Amino acid sequence: MNEKTQEIIADLKSYLEYLKGMGVEALPVSNKASGEVSVSSVSSDVIETLEGIRKDLGDCQRCKLHRMRKTLVFGEGNPKSKLMFVGEGPGYDEDVQGRPFVGKAGQLLTKIIQSIGLQREDVYIANIIKCRPPQNRNPEPDEIEACHPFVVRQIQAIRPKIICALGTFAAQTLLKTSVKITALRGKQFDMGGIKVIPTYHPAYLLRNPEKKRETWEDMKQILALFQENESRDQLEGERR
Ligand code: URA
Repeated sequence: MNEKTQEIIADLKSYLEYLKGMGVEALPVSNKASGEVSVSSVSSDVIETLEGIRKDLGDCQRCKLHRMRKTLVFGEGNPKSKLMFVGEGPGYDEDVQGRPFVGKAGQLLTKIIQSIGLQREDVYIANIIKCRPPQNRNPEPDEIEACHPFVVRQIQAIRPKIICALGTFAAQTLLKTSVKITALRGKQFDMGGIKVIPTYHPAYLLRNPEKKRETWEDMKQILALFQENESRDQLEGERR
């Protein structure tokens, strides 16, 4: 075994130790065979449009939530944004209006976005599940499983550079982990070349305002990554 290979194996070992320390007990292998969609498994020449994905969802009845929902909440914002926010699922107001994050938690999210000098229209906002669970209960595994491919396809269509995962369900689903949000936040993850920054859900911040400080730290990370990307794009544009 040559030196380079030994180095790669040592790196891999320490990375796996790190993941183990974080509570990750299993790693996904190639999931093409199971028909599951993963962000890194789709090549750039089969990019769909958001309209196409919405059309495919149609009057979705893939899980039991369709029986209780009023409106399916697909997502909204800049379809070419470098920054995407992914929440859990619609609440009462979102279900009525058919738009993501428009209730009290949504108003806080709008302020959080503005705190880094952006507007809602500059970013794309979506959820892991598209239909409101009754009484805003947590999404169940079969509901997440039915809906997850759609948020993955939205991510593939938008191709953001940064995803802010809002709360436990978004972070755990996107990162395929059961690690708690308290351990995930404050860190950056790579998902097929996209930086994932988990942070607290705005609804949690409404109940625990003292946690806003940590969210602000996460937002500063996002802003730094966003600006890095902007300057890289600018440089590349100048070279062309
Ligand atoms: N909470 C979410 O996770 N998403 C919404 O769209 C609204 C509230």
